Amino acid sequence: MTSFDQYISGLVEQVTPSNIKMTIEHLSSYLTRFTLSNKIVPVSQWIHKQFTIMGYSDVGYQDFVFCDTLQKNIVCTKMGKGQSNKIIILCAHYDTIARSTIGWNWKKCPAPGANDNASGVAAMLEIARILMNIEMDHTIRFIAFTGEEQNLMGSRAYAEYACTNNMDIILVLNLDEIGYPDVKSNWNINIGVDQVNRTHTKKATAHKFALLMAKVAADNTSLNSRRIDLWASDHTPFSSRGYAVIGITQAGKYPHSHKITDTVNYIDVDYIVEVTKMTLATLIHIAGCKGRK
Ligand SMILES: [Zn+2]
Repeated sequence: MTSFDQYISGLVEQVTPSNIKMTIEHLSSYLTRFTLSNKIVPVSQWIHKQFTIMGYSDVGYQDFVFCDTLQKNIVCTKMGKGQSNKIIILCAHYDTIARSTIGWNWKKCPAPGANDNASGVAAMLEIARILMNIEMDHTIRFIAFTGEEQNLMGSRAYAEYACTNNMDIILVLNLDEIGYPDVKSNWNINIGVDQVNRTHTKKATAHKFALLMAKVAADNTSLNSRRIDLWASDHTPFSSRGYAVIGITQAGKYPHSHKITDTVNYIDVDYIVEVTKMTLATLIHIAGCKGRK
């Protein structure tokens, strides 16, 4: 084991199951996080506050209007060494829907979204917490998106902004539904990369990072990674604009997807912990740490 590997494993060990569980329980405790509901703003404020409590100073909102409501992506930037322009985005959506429950009405019915996608937000926040005082070569931007369940409204807005401003994004890492393993032991995890022969230029880069992630999973976690084709989620607007993207999702077929029963008791926090470790260690490899290799 090199000293860099040891350094990474020390950080990975800081992933704390109770933090992840607390975030999921808190986010699920709002009746709903449906985009048009009046809970969406308080939820966005709570996520914003978590970043500032950790000590981040560059935390803000990207506002956009959807169906006459004000929507807020939460954007927290951790500057890289020397104000590096190279950015890695770690993102997860915080809005929910429960349209697969018969008779669901967004105005009065719950949409707890523990797995979809409080799980992803919890992992992202835990990684942000651990990296807060770690100096890194490249800039990391943590983004919590809204409007994912409305045709990816939030990530579309941000990908457009990124493109217009010529942002130098090395990779977009998206977490969506990471709480449900397929088997009781020897857990699998799906790493989504673009398998189809589309012509966008960053496909090879994404594959290179996916290989790295698979190695990191083997070295630092109990997960077996398997590569799947990308599915529709917040990475899509970035991929279609030519950015390299990886989507991470659970290996199990979750029976409570988009239902009012998507609650914390059906998901596996220990599995989310492993996925969080894999994501954290991959980020450290890609973003680089000053003086360590
Ligand atoms: Zn989702």
